[in-house]
Amino acid sequence: MDTTAHVVIVGAGHAGGTAAGLLRQYGFDGRITLVGDEGELPYQRPPLSKAWLKAEVDVDALYLRPASFYEQNEIQLHLDEKAVRIDPRRRRLHLSGDKTLAYDSLILATGARARRLQMAHGDSEGIVYLRDMRHAAALKDRLAGARRMAVLGGGYVGLEVAATARQLGVDVLVIEREPRLLARVASAPVSDFVLGLHQREGVQFRFRASVSVLESRQGRLAALVLDDGERIACDLLLVGIGAVPNDELAREAGLDCEQGIVVDATSRTSHPHIYAIGDVTRRRASENELAPRIESVSNALDQARQVASAMAGRTVPAAETPWFWSDQYATKLQSVGLPRPTDTTIVRPSASGSGLAVLHLRDNVLRAAETVNSARDFLLARRAIASGCVVDPRALASEDAPLSALLS
Ligand code: FAD
Ligand code: NAP
Repeated sequence: MDTTAHVVIVGAGHAGGTAAGLLRQYGFDGRITLVGDEGELPYQRPPLSKAWLKAEVDVDALYLRPASFYEQNEIQLHLDEKAVRIDPRRRRLHLSGDKTLAYDSLILATGARARRLQMAHGDSEGIVYLRDMRHAAALKDRLAGARRMAVLGGGYVGLEVAATARQLGVDVLVIEREPRLLARVASAPVSDFVLGLHQREGVQFRFRASVSVLESRQGRLAALVLDDGERIACDLLLVGIGAVPNDELAREAGLDCEQGIVVDATSRTSHPHIYAIGDVTRRRASENELAPRIESVSNALDQARQVASAMAGRTVPAAETPWFWSDQYATKLQSVGLPRPTDTTIVRPSASGSGLAVLHLRDNVLRAAETVNSARDFLLARRAIASGCVVDPRALASEDAPLSALLS
């Protein structure tokens, strides 16, 4: 291996931080530099809407590794600098503050940012987003004094925060543009289950709705007006309306981007020396098909393993079937695979009786599954999908036999 090779990673988030550690674990002994613009060591975001927001864990539990890990593994950190330009021809990365890094290989792990609500008074005090530690700290402060909170967007961010806010005793109203919750990431039976769960906890909902006016008094949020004219007084609004990929750096460098950096099955971009991993990427599934961006920790880890393997001279592992989880109250949602609208869908109660499993079949092969409160069913389904298990849809629908007997 060339011990003078220099790998530069842009983005010190879950994917970038993991890739840096794995490079050393896999035996890469060249130089590694990690560039981040948050002024923080790489940390995990999932607790920001859950355990950390409820003060069940402290800030140290968020960091992927302590500072000493990077020192011991000779990973150079530039944690308060933004990468502003790539010169792919000369293999140079320009940082804010006029610094330039020469690289042999570049890994882009720039993630995504919260989509902003673009309307008058959108920057009033009391309107918050949740993507990073700074946002989370602001939200935690506001929740402590909030009486009535509105949540715009019934996706993972909105619902996880709604659950936490209810557990902290705050009144919550969720406003969702779609006719159901989690419409982008879950099937209708799971949406219905989640709606019932939140309603039992006292959360209120408005569907097919959005905000048309923000009322602000002396710079502070006072009320919202929905598009049907309903006025809602509230002192806190969490906006959770999706994430936008940070792909500008790649686009300006001429890399193939389509609302995300396009990568091949091994996480390589359209440039041979540049890889991209995590939320910012979209995989090219075939010549004519681009997969959607996968915004999850499992995808960040999967792609980090691929690039670290490639650079350490190991066999690059095939991409995993994507999987996801979300915790709301004491309920765990898990899913694996990407269902298609034309799949045959079978819904079964979980063995425990407190949840369900939704199985998505194509040509009698299990392709995707969603489970609620059943880690066992989730593991069975994940294994069955990985092995291309052929199943009998009628037997699966009848509930007479346990899932373990049908998915082997
Ligand atoms: P990020 O973690 O966003 O990291 C990207 C980093 O790059 C950021 O620090 C950014 O500031 C930095 N950066 C961007 N541009 C530049 C630049 N030009 N120069 C330098 N640095 C730059 N996923 C799950 O699977 N399960 C969960 O339960 C879950 N919960 C979540 C809860 C919350 C509140 C949020 C926000 C996300 C959650 N996710 C969850 C999603 C998960 O956190 C992301 O999929 C994951 O963080 C993606 O990792 P990443 O490294 O690609 O991006
Ligand atoms: P999301 O999953 O895209 O959900 C946003 C929801 O808000 C969508 O249903 C969207 O509907 C709706 N919406 C958009 N604009 C709206 C408007 N003006 N008024 C009302 N509703 C509107 O995004 P998110 O929940 O904000 O999450 C952001 C990112 O964090 C994603 O990457 C997510 O995967 C990640 N995250 C993941 C987890 C987890 O995996 N457990 C937890 C938290 C966050 P349309 O589809 O019609 O736009």
